[in-house]
Amino acid sequence: MSYEGINHKLCANGHYSAADAMTEMYESRVALCYVCQAAITHEFAQDQTNGDDVGNPHTLPPNLEAFVKAKGERCNLGHFHVTEPERFDVPDDGLWKAVK
Ligand SMILES: [Zn+2]
Ligand SMILES: [Zn+2]
Repeated sequence: MSYEGINHKLCANGHYSAADAMTEMYESRVALCYVCQAAITHEFAQDQTNGDDVGNPHTLPPNLEAFVKAKGERCNLGHFHVTEPERFDVPDDGLWKAVK
């Protein structure tokens, strides 16, 4: 059975993103933040081979706490458009590893 998983990432400025582990292994690795282009400094590789949370790639991993809340504005259609995404501290839970 092949490995399935999600690579959760935080950049140097605390922006969160996630990438499919197989895509990263065989195609391209996400090394820069999509928000601010800073280097990804920490990753949490969540193994989903056994079906845990499959289909929920956008569920935030546990223990993420924002030290800056998202900022945004409500448009005339009533959507909340994020102009500045939230920023997180690296959780001290042993799951996150520094990217070398
Ligand atoms: Zn960033
Ligand atoms: Zn809108």
